[in-house]
Amino acid sequence: MRQDSIAAAGPLVTFFLELARIPSPSGHERAINDFLTTRLRGLGLEVREDEPLYPDSGSSAGNLYCRLEASVPGTPILLSAHTDTVPSEDEALPDPTLVDGVIRSGSRAVLGADDKSAVAAIIHTLERIIREKLPQAGIELLLTVGEEGGLRGAKASSLELVVAECGFCLDCTGPVGGVIVRSPSQKTVNATFIGKSAHAGVVPEDGRNAVVAAAKAVAAMKLGRLDGETTANVGIIRGGEAVNVVPDRCAIHCEARSHDQEKLENQVVHMLEAINLAAAEEEVDVEITVVDEFHGFDFSAGGLPIELAERAFGRLGLPTERTSTGGGSDVNVFNLRGLPCVNLATGMECVHTPEEYISVESLQQMHDFLMALVEEARGANGQMSF
Ligand SMILES: [Zn+2]
Repeated sequence: MRQDSIAAAGPLVTFFLELARIPSPSGHERAINDFLTTRLRGLGLEVREDEPLYPDSGSSAGNLYCRLEASVPGTPILLSAHTDTVPSEDEALPDPTLVDGVIRSGSRAVLGADDKSAVAAIIHTLERIIREKLPQAGIELLLTVGEEGGLRGAKASSLELVVAECGFCLDCTGPVGGVIVRSPSQKTVNATFIGKSAHAGVVPEDGRNAVVAAAKAVAAMKLGRLDGETTANVGIIRGGEAVNVVPDRCAIHCEARSHDQEKLENQVVHMLEAINLAAAEEEVDVEITVVDEFHGFDFSAGGLPIELAERAFGRLGLPTERTSTGGGSDVNVFNLRGLPCVNLATGMECVHTPEEYISVESLQQMHDFLMALVEEARGANGQMSF
């Protein structure tokens, strides 16, 4: 194995590696936000940070936002990515390697190409536009925190500041050119069964078994892939303290997703019925919460961000593939809040694992795409060379 020269790989790769070396698991984005704020201020941009997501933690941070005022007429756009990563095993630190044009973490840490590959490509593009004084129709940058595990930063973001007509999140696996046009809505159902504890060998008839109630509820649920548009899962079950005690508490955490809102509602009703029926049969109480995690979107019939993205890819001769996902991202939040927004693939692979990687070619393609997108957004007037 021979390491490639990082210096020869160019400033975009160098910048990405700098970001990858700064650990930023969700809730601990302070260091990377400070690094990025310094970099953006160095470009003369005014950087605004939302309130930290976790005010009691010294390493928490808020979303970063800045705006490049338009120099020519056209369509103002928002570019977005998230700065947090999933946590690494044993808090391992990335020690990135570049071999045969591919960047890996070099340790048991996640590389964090999800989503620092996008952060690097977007800021590198802004730097070039500012340095070369290239005409543009208004670009806003929103770097969210706390995306992993709940889209919390996007939900708390100051989206009312955004004047862009459409947005582009770069936060999806697969080759550059992939455009997510469809994503489901998701709800979670959390139920805690509350029975009565008793000695299992002496007076079991005095107890009310919460684990049995939970098991009956789960066994009665339709789960897995329910149809082409709908899925459901029970991901967590927790209950009981000792083998000789009738357990008085058991919690289950379930989710349902569908591209069809009515099917989603029906599945949630079905899960609630299974939970309530099991609780009644086992004579236990149950506390239930239903949480709207995110709302779906559907651009399969087209829309401004799709058209701009596809024209930009076409300009580069990169094949575009419209795809559907079963997952949620910040895009779901932005669309729900009224900003038409699509999610684009960055070339990152095996995300959320120590095997995560991205190629130098993908980073370069993202940058080329963003340059083409900025040109498309400013309309057909004049030519820009890059
Ligand atoms: Zn991501």
